[in-house]
Amino acid sequence: MNQEAVLRTFARAAEDAHAALTELDQRSGDGDFGDNLRGGLREAVARFDAGGTSAFGALGEVFLDEVGGTSGPLLGLLFTEIAQALDRGGSFGDGARAGLAAIQRVGEAQVGDRTLVDALSPAVDAFATGGFVAAAAAAKKGADHTAELRARMGRASYVGDRAKGEPDPGAVGIAVLFWAAATVES
Ligand code: ADP
Ligand code: MG
Ligand code: MG
Repeated sequence: MNQEAVLRTFARAAEDAHAALTELDQRSGDGDFGDNLRGGLREAVARFDAGGTSAFGALGEVFLDEVGGTSGPLLGLLFTEIAQALDRGGSFGDGARAGLAAIQRVGEAQVGDRTLVDALSPAVDAFATGGFVAAAAAAKKGADHTAELRARMGRASYVGDRAKGEPDPGAVGIAVLFWAAATVES
């Protein structure tokens, strides 16, 4: 898989989605998710360009070490697992499945709690049978569905029903990742 192209496509998409993601996190949280995702991607591109690491390796290091918020370290686990799977000749889907397990081990969110797990879990399942395009569609559907959910985890759980009607920002971020991967790989 062309990791570099996925990184650059994801980074451009995060620039485009920044305002919308900020607004979603203002409704349900503290409004920093757009900054966290965009800032992490800018830094990961810079780290990749400096050499010495794979694109997903750079993403993993930057999100684990430098990106704040709840999403920073959780996405760092996902990117690191994807990097490791690709390094040993596995698929993006294998890495995403391992990343989902790591995220749930640390964050303890289940499907239906209105988190990024609601996009990642169906995407991982869809990848196994339908590859990148099916995974991207499943991630988007899962993210859209979070608009109907009340948060039980993270900051959004403090605002009750106020965030309902709009999707969870982290889930939308996962949909953007899978969209970028499908755009490059299909
Ligand atoms: P913070 O709330 O600390 O500012 P971010 O804004 O960076 O964190 O990220 C918010 C996103 O993190 C949410 O939209 C949600 O998808 C995700 N999230 C929050 N708690 C969890 C959790 N326990 N497991 C998985 N994802 C979570
Ligand atoms: Mg936030
Ligand atoms: Mg925050």
